[in-house]
Amino acid sequence: MRYVYTTLLLIFAAAIFICSCIIGRRDKRPLTKAIRYIMIAAPSTMAAYAGALLAPERLPAEFMYAVYYVVSDVLLICMLFYALKYTGIYEIRGAQKAVLYFVTGVDGVLMLLNVFTDRVFIFRCGLIEDAGTFFYGIAERGGLYNFHRLIIYGMVVLIVFPLVVKIGKSPQMYRKKFWLTLLSLLVIIAANIAYLVMGLEIDFSVLSYGIMAVAIYYFNVIYVPQGLVEGLLSSSIKNMDDSVICFDIEGNCVYANSVAYGFFKAESGEPFEDYYKEWMNGRTLSQAEDSEWKEIREINAVKRYYDVSFKRLCDRDENFVGCFFKMHDETVEVEKLAAERFRATHDRLTGIYNREHFYDVVTEAVRKAEPGTYCMVCSDIKNFKLVNDIFGINVGDELLLNIANTLKRLAGTGSIYGRLSGDRFAICMPRERFQPEVFAAEIRRIGEKSGTSTYRICLHIGVYDIVDRDIAVSVMCDRAYMAIKTIKSSLTDVIAHYDDGIRESSVSEQKVTGEFGTALEDGQFCFYIQPQVSVRGKILGGEALVRWIHPERGLVPPGEFIGILENTGLICRLDMYIWELACKKLREWKDRELTNYHISVNISPKDFYFADIYKVFTGLVEKYEISPRNLRLEITESAIMSDFDKQLVLIQRLQEYGFYVEMDDFGSGYSSLNMLKDMPVNTLKIDMGFLRQTDHEERSRTILKMMIALSRQLGMEVITEGVETKEQVDFLTEIGCDIFQGYYFARPMTVEDFEKKYFNR
Ligand code: C2E
Ligand code: CA
Ligand code: CA
Repeated sequence: MRYVYTTLLLIFAAAIFICSCIIGRRDKRPLTKAIRYIMIAAPSTMAAYAGALLAPERLPAEFMYAVYYVVSDVLLICMLFYALKYTGIYEIRGAQKAVLYFVTGVDGVLMLLNVFTDRVFIFRCGLIEDAGTFFYGIAERGGLYNFHRLIIYGMVVLIVFPLVVKIGKSPQMYRKKFWLTLLSLLVIIAANIAYLVMGLEIDFSVLSYGIMAVAIYYFNVIYVPQGLVEGLLSSSIKNMDDSVICFDIEGNCVYANSVAYGFFKAESGEPFEDYYKEWMNGRTLSQAEDSEWKEIREINAVKRYYDVSFKRLCDRDENFVGCFFKMHDETVEVEKLAAERFRATHDRLTGIYNREHFYDVVTEAVRKAEPGTYCMVCSDIKNFKLVNDIFGINVGDELLLNIANTLKRLAGTGSIYGRLSGDRFAICMPRERFQPEVFAAEIRRIGEKSGTSTYRICLHIGVYDIVDRDIAVSVMCDRAYMAIKTIKSSLTDVIAHYDDGIRESSVSEQKVTGEFGTALEDGQFCFYIQPQVSVRGKILGGEALVRWIHPERGLVPPGEFIGILENTGLICRLDMYIWELACKKLREWKDRELTNYHISVNISPKDFYFADIYKVFTGLVEKYEISPRNLRLEITESAIMSDFDKQLVLIQRLQEYGFYVEMDDFGSGYSSLNMLKDMPVNTLKIDMGFLRQTDHEERSRTILKMMIALSRQLGMEVITEGVETKEQVDFLTEIGCDIFQGYYFARPMTVEDFEKKYFNR
């Protein structure tokens, strides 16, 4: 019996030990680690006990029993740590752990002392007969044995307690797992009690340590309680955000989750079969294949988007056993995506296409259509920046919205429209639908509605007939804008077509910019002077007006190149050249003691961007040692208006230095009488064009009268330019104009002619 039992113990212990080694390599989870300690401690206990039974003499036998008791303590510690980790009910840390180790340590020391001295008496071995052979078994236990017992029972309580608590706290599905673990523990306790109560010589309960180690491993790592998987799966489906409806082979609904019920507003038990029939569209379930589709349904008058999938369910032998539908409500995603797409393709303020998207859509439409089907209609607000500056951003935005809405309405179906940038809009529309009169009327209406009595908003439209489908949409728009640039009178003409003339001028534009550099170096530019005459007929000086003496084309007037050079920024180089020529001339006059004559030079608005005007002019005056009084500076209204505060400071500094500053072309732009009082210029150059243009001559004359009276009151000198007739001179003299410039007195002439005519008298 003894041999059979020890053999069994040793084989079983070895098997468990090997298993623990294999598991340790594969599974590194903390819980498995705790179980592995049990799987090492349990076979060690078994081996120690087998060793004691097999010991040939009393001393080794007692030693092995002592080892067995100590290892049992270790096994219980391992089980305690496992139970705590497994249940997570409480933890043993720091001092508690120290006490535990100390108490078991004392037990171990006492056990050894028991073996080697007679003073400590825990147990003694005696010879016991087993089927004719003898071995050493526990013959007697002393009072100190109770200390060992106390440790053992204490730890059993500590192990059982968390398991019991855990069972009470766990959901039904998990209880079984804890129950089975607890049960395997109880088996050992029961076996041990049985051994003690029955007073057996051999402790058969030692074998149960091994059984328990295996059971714990099995129940914790391998075993999944029946119903747990099903339970988890069904509650995952129940709590899913998607509708799930399952049908059996006959097409009966066997399950529908709560979302599905909510979705169909079906009361529990109402047939879902109707819905699937609608989905299946005449097919039978077993015929249907796995598929996915999108569906839009109106629920409570709200459009909702669904991603629906149908899946067949088959058993292991590929037999059809049922199917399910899953409906994912993707309304939020769809709407978010749509909003993002909208933001990426539409203008935020007006809600119409942005430039990139407009280009894309037009490219596509034009490519598909016959050449000449469409035209590109582009709009531009004249001086939009000023609208913002004068009326504020909100009014500017309102105006843009107004324009967007009007264009949208004018565009009608079959057209594509968008906002290209700030105040620029474009419509690509069928050519035959573009009616200039309708557009012009609408544009005027916008101007009247949005402007004020002092400032009239002016919208211009350029049209390009898309005959060449292969050019980029941006170029089509550029051509429409080129057409806009040809609009001269902003109030009467509002629409311009891109035509051959514009094409030619764009060619000549390229020519001008191409030739400019060498022309400047070759000295092809010079200036003419147009005299300025006082009311009493005295010559005061003149305005320097640039001329290009072209080797092939002859004398080219500035109208043909100034605008182009301004657009390209080259104007600055030309102006500096002319300013230098004018200063040189003034120096020459100074040397001839002709210091009573001035020269006025033109400063383009662009010059303020590219040059430090103050530095340039003071530098020139110092270089040629001339008086700043003799060099007058003509600044246009638009240059001042582009950055009023900055220009104000600049003008004041120039005046402090001694320059005369004249405001050129007053009345041709957006001048307001109100602005005059803030403008620190010395001279006002009134543009006669302003008088000529208007239909209400009488009113214009009144305004002119007021203007001159006001500027005189403010201490400004008034020059009227473009004076052509005696009547004009008489009228202007009458209302107080100081100086005249115009064909009536003289046309612009070469400097030599000027000198001959006025200095040699
Ligand atoms: P602006 O500064 O207003 O110059 C006056 C223009 O009116 C000159 O044209 C002149 O010839 C013209 N004019 C003078 N009296 C009469 C008249 O009685 N009747 C009419 N119908 N016209 C008259 P021009 O020389 O062709 O210059 C045109 C424009 O070119 C100038 O207008 C000015 O804006 C620009 N410009 C001329 N020279 C320069 C320059 O050196 N630099 C810059 N940046 N611009 C210049
Ligand atoms: Ca001028
Ligand atoms: Ca002028």
